[in-house]
Amino acid sequence: MGARQNDRFRPVVLSDIAPLFLFDYCYKLWYDLPMEFYTFASSSSGNAALLRCDGTAVLLDAGISARRIAQSLAALHMTPDELDAVLVTHAHSDHVNGLATLTKKYAVPVYATRGTANFLPVPAELLHTFEPGAAFAVGALDVRSFRTSHDAAGSVDYRFDSPEGSFGALTDSGYVTDEAAETLAGVDALLLEANHDIDMLQNGPYPYHLKRRILSDLGHLSNEAAAEFALYCVRAGARDVLLAHLSAENNTPAAAEYAVARRLQSAGCPVRLGVAPKAELSEAHRIEHTLVRAAR
Ligand SMILES: [Zn+2]
Ligand SMILES: [Zn+2]
Repeated sequence: MGARQNDRFRPVVLSDIAPLFLFDYCYKLWYDLPMEFYTFASSSSGNAALLRCDGTAVLLDAGISARRIAQSLAALHMTPDELDAVLVTHAHSDHVNGLATLTKKYAVPVYATRGTANFLPVPAELLHTFEPGAAFAVGALDVRSFRTSHDAAGSVDYRFDSPEGSFGALTDSGYVTDEAAETLAGVDALLLEANHDIDMLQNGPYPYHLKRRILSDLGHLSNEAAAEFALYCVRAGARDVLLAHLSAENNTPAAAEYAVARRLQSAGCPVRLGVAPKAELSEAHRIEHTLVRAAR
């Protein structure tokens, strides 16, 4: 009886609670990560970006091979199993090339509009479909889709919000739709298409029908269009603009960055401006609320 009493009141020793500390430490390593995004590839031959925040990780498009996606994730100490979702903008191959293998090997949920989903090689049980303009949550992220103007059925792009900040993407759009401007106003960080320099495209080697397609309302944003929209977003609070989906034939990183930087000068505030690498993992882009930054 006496011995039992002693057992019950045995003082707590470090070895009893060490696993709790270890669990808490490991949990915090992942869950206290700031909101940040990376691009894995960005061009007409393949697009994929990662956004992670508060234990949620989403892939925006899977236009490179599943092997390259896994390699990029490994460089960030992640595996494809840890993805909460793949969000697809549209079904062109430079945005979905790796999707079939990725979803065959890993049961990652895929979000796409009904118009896009019809063309996706994804098991039905992994597909979550919606209409353009729909809002939904993926883990810690509030997601809003908006219509883009592109020659692909049901094409959209997305804005993501968390208590830590907001991120938006606009690529593959012939012009900036009203929905894009309304939805992306106020984002802290922006991934923005600067596909071509109009002079380079018009004087370049592309056949006439391809030039017309790219320049049309269903094509891609030029450097000039990107510059104008970047200024709009910076005036609304964006402080990180990463230019994306550059054409290899009709643009250069220097031309795109120069066109946008020149326009942003009139905003009169510091902005992190860069160009997403064509085929490698980008630097980390940490996202913070404009209000949080202002308080520092
Ligand atoms: Zn594309
Ligand atoms: Zn496209």
